Amino acid sequence: MTPDEILALYPWTLGECFRCAMADLFVTRIGAISTPAGDDYILSACGSCVLILEEERRRHAAGGRGRYKPGGLGA
Ligand SMILES: [Zn+2]
Repeated sequence: MTPDEILALYPWTLGECFRCAMADLFVTRIGAISTPAGDDYILSACGSCVLILEEERRRHAAGGRGRYKPGGLGA
């Protein structure tokens, strides 16, 4: 799968990337965290960070635990 094909699996909106802290760029939601106080934070990442995270998942899967399937961040 090419990087473009992986990125095409996600919906993109303007926002801020939690990982590289860039703002006003296209990001996709990859998760959310809830604090004990009950606040919800949406985690969104930009395209280059999504590709890095996908690569980490792919390497993880290659290490033996489960099968890697692109497009699953935040699912
Ligand atoms: Zn980023």
